[in-house]
Amino acid sequence: MTRDGGVFVVQRHHATTLHFDLRLEVDGVLVSWAVPKGPSLDPGEKRLAVRVEDHDLSHATFEGRGAGGGPGTVIVWDTGPYLNVTEPNGVPLAASEALEAGHLKVVLRGEKLVGAFALTRTLLGGDPRNWILVKVDDEFADRRRDLTSTENRSVLSGRTNADLEQS
Ligand code: MN
Repeated sequence: MTRDGGVFVVQRHHATTLHFDLRLEVDGVLVSWAVPKGPSLDPGEKRLAVRVEDHDLSHATFEGRGAGGGPGTVIVWDTGPYLNVTEPNGVPLAASEALEAGHLKVVLRGEKLVGAFALTRTLLGGDPRNWILVKVDDEFADRRRDLTSTENRSVLSGRTNADLEQS
């Protein structure tokens, strides 16, 4: 089969707590995880990613107050195309099947996030919603830069969450 993929988006969501929502287009919806600490380019940094409800594709460009009526502000922290490169035992697996199997490897082509990332379901805390997001150690891995602390602007509008609070 040919490799599938689509659009990915990472939204910086400042609600009760600050978190990042990672969404991947799979079969016409945005499969989503809430990542409390956000993604890291350091392959040594495992980030908890809690699977949350799928979102409509139209949400990929959403910025504003109260996503879906919820609290806080949302900016598009990063977005771009992604490719599903999951290949257990060298056999390409469709993204939907990889999700069911609990392991997905994707290559992101965003402005901030580039290269391969792995998402793996864990039984951490006995909760099947808990996955781990980690940077695959490739040429785009970076152990020194901490993107989530240095980069806080939208790649679509240049705005910050604080800008939206004041608007
Ligand atoms: Mn959120």
